[in-house]
Amino acid sequence: MPFSRIIGQDGPISILRRALATGRLAHAYLFEGIEGVGKKATALALIEAVFCGREDGCGTCPSCRKMAARQHPDLHLLEPDGAFIKIDQIRDLQKELAYRPFEAPKKACIIDGAERLNQAAGNALLKTLEEPPGNALIILVTAQVSGVLPTILSRCQRLHFQSLPEEAIAAYLTENGIDGEPARIAASLAGGSMKKALEIGKDTALGDRKQFLERLSGLSLLEITPLFSAAEELAADKEKAMELLELLTSFLRDVLLLKGGGDGIVNADLMPLLEREAGRLSQTRVMERIGHVGEARQALLRNVNARLTLEVLFMRLAKS
Ligand SMILES: [Zn+2]
Repeated sequence: MPFSRIIGQDGPISILRRALATGRLAHAYLFEGIEGVGKKATALALIEAVFCGREDGCGTCPSCRKMAARQHPDLHLLEPDGAFIKIDQIRDLQKELAYRPFEAPKKACIIDGAERLNQAAGNALLKTLEEPPGNALIILVTAQVSGVLPTILSRCQRLHFQSLPEEAIAAYLTENGIDGEPARIAASLAGGSMKKALEIGKDTALGDRKQFLERLSGLSLLEITPLFSAAEELAADKEKAMELLELLTSFLRDVLLLKGGGDGIVNADLMPLLEREAGRLSQTRVMERIGHVGEARQALLRNVNARLTLEVLFMRLAKS
């Protein structure tokens, strides 16, 4: 994918285009920004351009075609093996980079998840970042720049990737077959991440959301079994639980908005449910709930017992 097809990252891309045009590419870059905003796509576009010899890869030469299939012999992709990027992976990469390139002007590698370089692997990489063998191009990618070792940071040219504007996300979803209401909702819930918008935009996620919210509003302390089984089910998939709690926060925010007049509501397709909740809950109660959900999310992030956390949350929500 050439630069011209990447959405919403004109800042970093114009810096890279200038570097390509003037022949002043850095040895090592660090692309930082939240997940799903085009960091890796931009890294691939940069390598495509370098390999193809044009500022925008042409997309049709043998080199661009191999890049599109991620099958180029001079492209090396590195990802965490389990929780970390291990020192053996760095050593293997260094061996690869030490060979002459097969067909490209230089070798290139993308290290995805740079915050997962542990101390040993990070130290092993330092020398390579300073003087890459054969003038190789190294691009590190991270969604958590605070987790990247300072010694690594100081040896890379850092480019910041912004969260994407809601309209750009909605337009992209619509072009890709998710239209109307779901596209708008997914874009507004995604917090600037295209990846997240695509996940939410899938019919199933939106279907789940409605079912989940309806189920929650039906919970009662008088019937404790459904409450516990909801907690148990949700605790089994923590990532999904986090996602649904985020949706719940957005839903509760909408209840507040509705009580205050109704401007800017995100979950407009759930109006009957929103109206019901707005009718039965006071403003103070809604704010309390938002607080409870926030606490539960924090607890899940801290790896506190998920089932217990959700049980407590659901009991609190069922109380009123
Ligand atoms: Zn080409």
